[in-house]
Amino acid sequence: MPVYEYRCSACDGLHRQTMTVGEYGALAEIPECRHCGVRLKRRFSFAAAEVLHEHWNHSLGGPVSDHRKFREGLRRKSDEMSARLGQDVNLQPIDASDPTTVGASPDAKEKRVGELRGSRS
Ligand SMILES: [Zn+2]
Repeated sequence: MPVYEYRCSACDGLHRQTMTVGEYGALAEIPECRHCGVRLKRRFSFAAAEVLHEHWNHSLGGPVSDHRKFREGLRRKSDEMSARLGQDVNLQPIDASDPTTVGASPDAKEKRVGELRGSRS
């Protein structure tokens, strides 16, 4: 399913909505910023809702085939680690399509794409 991204011109906040192309087409109007109430601007990106293919997950030490089982596994692993370490552990899945989860600025992707385009010409 495509991910639609919107940018708030007031607070620069990034909003993401996952919906079908049909749902997007049926939207009466562009949504407003949750924080400011300002009408958002569509931001075009290549992000798509992540499909989780079955794989061996090193964090869980076992196979993972869907998002729900992955979250359950992380919760179980968090509980195990909390008990073993005697402190609260709360493992969370990261959104790999979100550059901020790896410490990059929200516009890093666009900037890098611009650099790559520039270096080619
Ligand atoms: Zn805003």
